[in-house]
Amino acid sequence: RDTLVKVEDLSVTYHTRIGPVSAVDHVSFEIQKGEILGLVGESGCGKSTLGKALMRLIEPPAEISSGHIIFDGEDIMQYDEEKMRDFRGRRTSMIFQDPMTSLNPMQRVDDHLVEAIQVHEPKTKREKALERTTVLIERLGIGLNRLGSYPHQLSGGMRQRVMTGLGLVLNAELIIADEATTSLDVIVEAKLADQLREIRDEFGVTLLMITHNIALVAEMADRVAVMYAGHVVEMGDIYTVFEKPLHPYTQGLLGSVPSIELNDRDELFKMPGEPPNLTHPPTGCRFHPRCQHAMPICSRLEPDLLKTSSGSLVHCWLYQDHPEKTEKTLKV
Ligand code: SF4
Ligand code: MG
Repeated sequence: RDTLVKVEDLSVTYHTRIGPVSAVDHVSFEIQKGEILGLVGESGCGKSTLGKALMRLIEPPAEISSGHIIFDGEDIMQYDEEKMRDFRGRRTSMIFQDPMTSLNPMQRVDDHLVEAIQVHEPKTKREKALERTTVLIERLGIGLNRLGSYPHQLSGGMRQRVMTGLGLVLNAELIIADEATTSLDVIVEAKLADQLREIRDEFGVTLLMITHNIALVAEMADRVAVMYAGHVVEMGDIYTVFEKPLHPYTQGLLGSVPSIELNDRDELFKMPGEPPNLTHPPTGCRFHPRCQHAMPICSRLEPDLLKTSSGSLVHCWLYQDHPEKTEKTLKV
């Protein structure tokens, strides 16, 4: 697979009264064309910030403080605001938890889509735009009788499909879904997840799925990136990571999912400790205060994000040699 997005050394800093907060801290990874990448972690780990940063939607008092975002070979950090607006609308699309905040309550489904086309393709006639809208709506399984509906007349799952349609009608290459299924009930959520997979297969679109729901990621993603306190701590294909999680945080996170079938929801394991306050992040490995395997080196130095023989990336001293590390190194 080719690379669609290459993120290099990306940092996002919030400037607060009590000092800078590194919400995303020197993160590097790639998103492959046509894949579904799940980005998981507890709330506050920086996953939403990272998603927004990929579209340069970071606003003061926060800023992208380092790094490059190479989209299909071009560094979008070099784009001016006008080029960036066009890029966001045309090549990417973002779906949020509550589509009501992004849909216009006074606008019908068809008008949303027609307007999206006409804003980015001013030369397209209304008739042509409506034709494209109709074809897409049918492919999304929305039902043509919904074209004239207003957002409040649609179910939550249906609204999310309209949001997805807004991206697809302009042939977006990357869809970023941030907790897009979270407010839906379990059945509707599973159905929407299925549909997103189908949409990926049919349209060849790339999907970044940001969620705290690791079971959902197990079901629908091809690869997963696990974030903790502003760092990507583990990344790999679903089977490798779920079968043999390497990072102690991933192990804890997976331990908190009793079964992938979403049974036993009430028996959730709670990982001891709290995510750190990022105004004063822990030194070395940011997970060390919560880690059962912490060694002396862990609080002194930050490990690298290293590739293992299985092709996964892991950010942990257990898998990395260092002269200061006296403990036995586990090899994988
Ligand atoms: Fe635990 Fe050390 Fe690995 Fe961090 S680097 S996860 S503290 S073993
Ligand atoms: Mg969030």
